[in-house]
Amino acid sequence: MSVQFDMEMAAQTEGANLLDYKKAVTEADWENVSAYFTWFKTGKVNMVHEAIDRHTEEGKGNKVALYFTDGKREEQYTYEEMKVNSCKFANGLKSIGIEKGDRVFIFMPRSPELYFAMLGIIRIGAIGGPLFEAFMEEAIKDRLKDSGAKAVVTTPELLSRIPFHDLPKLEKIVLVGGDEREESHLISYSKLMSQSEEYVMEWMDREDGMVIHYTSGSTGKPKGVLQVHDAMIHQYLAGKWTYDLHEDDIYWCTADPGWVTGTSAGMWSPWLNGVTNVIRGGRFRAEDWFETLQKYGVTVWFSAPTAFRLLMASGGELPKRYNLSKLRHLLSAGEPLNPEVIRWGAEVLNMRIHDNWWMTETGSSVCANFRCNVMRPGSMGKPLPGIEMSIISDQGEELPPNRMGNLAIKPTWPAMMRKIWNNDEKYESYFLNGWFVTGDSAYKDEDGFFWFEGRVDDVINTAGERVGPFEVESKLVEHPAVAEAGVIGVPDPIRGEVIKAFVTLRPGYTESDELLEEIRQHVKTKLAAHAAPRMFEVRASMPKTRSGKIMRRVLKAWELGLPTGDLSTMED
Ligand code: ATP
Ligand code: MG
Repeated sequence: MSVQFDMEMAAQTEGANLLDYKKAVTEADWENVSAYFTWFKTGKVNMVHEAIDRHTEEGKGNKVALYFTDGKREEQYTYEEMKVNSCKFANGLKSIGIEKGDRVFIFMPRSPELYFAMLGIIRIGAIGGPLFEAFMEEAIKDRLKDSGAKAVVTTPELLSRIPFHDLPKLEKIVLVGGDEREESHLISYSKLMSQSEEYVMEWMDREDGMVIHYTSGSTGKPKGVLQVHDAMIHQYLAGKWTYDLHEDDIYWCTADPGWVTGTSAGMWSPWLNGVTNVIRGGRFRAEDWFETLQKYGVTVWFSAPTAFRLLMASGGELPKRYNLSKLRHLLSAGEPLNPEVIRWGAEVLNMRIHDNWWMTETGSSVCANFRCNVMRPGSMGKPLPGIEMSIISDQGEELPPNRMGNLAIKPTWPAMMRKIWNNDEKYESYFLNGWFVTGDSAYKDEDGFFWFEGRVDDVINTAGERVGPFEVESKLVEHPAVAEAGVIGVPDPIRGEVIKAFVTLRPGYTESDELLEEIRQHVKTKLAAHAAPRMFEVRASMPKTRSGKIMRRVLKAWELGLPTGDLSTMED
């Protein structure tokens, strides 16, 4: 098989779970798959039963559910062991008074314990709240306070960032690893795990709360988004359709569970589909990542544009040193995927990288490039069967093809948020004229492919033209000198706004007026004169969220000397 990079890349139907997209769209009905789940028989359900326990009941208890590595630890756990460990944790939580509906947060680096804890929390009907390990005290306090968390699971290293005495609702802190320190509110993980091995399962209603995720904070203060057990229908089908998971797959999603991708695509979709899941802890290093792909024989790999761009910048030689022959499906989400990255994937990995679009609020993949469809690089593909997606005006009217507008979805779908925690007003603000409005700007072409343009607030108006930052950024990274680019509009008395590009350079390039002019000309001749940046700034790095998204609002605030707003999710 050889993959040709082109404006339209051929479909890959071989072995695809979703073979006929058009047919699936006409037949799609979320309830069709409900016969697969327990509630069909009993009326009650629990995500952890469907994701873990049922595989043990169906004779797959000895199958590896989790390979974990972080360079130091290297462990594996079967579905049976995931069940036992999460039951132990669940019993431990009960022993410290945690009940159905309570919020229990997890604030620690990726480790097997993190996953046992998350499963244990949901097993007893409590609501899990994963928090990325790099958050500092203020960010932790905001989130624990907002959610009214009753317990937190953390490590001794991170303990000082939890302001226990400022959080009246917080009763217990579970410490994973380290000494057996015991104060009234502290309890060690090992003690918790030794309470009882008894099987526990709290049977839930489909609409009961399961996970709260705080959004990435790209556009402002993070919101607490509630997902319910019903999301399992969607996570299961996204696993089948978007990630194309098959029984024998070894699957790796690089996202941290602190972000929705790390739970929905990192836990639920793979485990609901009964595949073997790889989790790698630690930070990005190209060599480590290729090594992980090789070592576990990863077949389906889900990462983010920022990681693919970094791998691309590490050169074409590095991947050749590894045996990546088992890889058969590549996925990307979280940010727009530049066509240049897809070209790299086709040339170096001989594979299409499938962009798929979603947000914390959608809970799972809702728009994707499916294996069964042709792919137009730069497009985020087509809606999942069962999802009605459109482009609407600011008044809530549907727009014709090729008109840029608000990307919107018809409510409801199973993984959709059920509330913004503590903020009903914010929740209501997402809806307009019967649509859920995403806050992203996009258009749909005549053939139904959706094209992301930027956040609504980031779209630039220059000399009467609307310019989506993504298109300009994609042209910029096409130039061999540019590693990453972030584009904003800067107010201008004549043009309304002018385009300013912040870029980081690839190794081997140094900033000069000639180079920047060459880059500008590249955009001018390959995209459009009006879209060519008039201002450039070369930076050593981009301000990014910890989930790897370029923070254009921060670039803009710096540029205009304005307050930067909530920076709790920004990388150092
Ligand atoms: P906040 O809502 O706090 O400002 P955020 O929107 O970045 O942060 P997430 O829910 O993690 O928080 O990210 C969702 C957003 O990520 C989408 O609204 C979209 O802008 C962007 N995104 C996700 N996937 C893609 C994709 N495939 N292509 C383009 N953009 C994407
Ligand atoms: Mg958002």
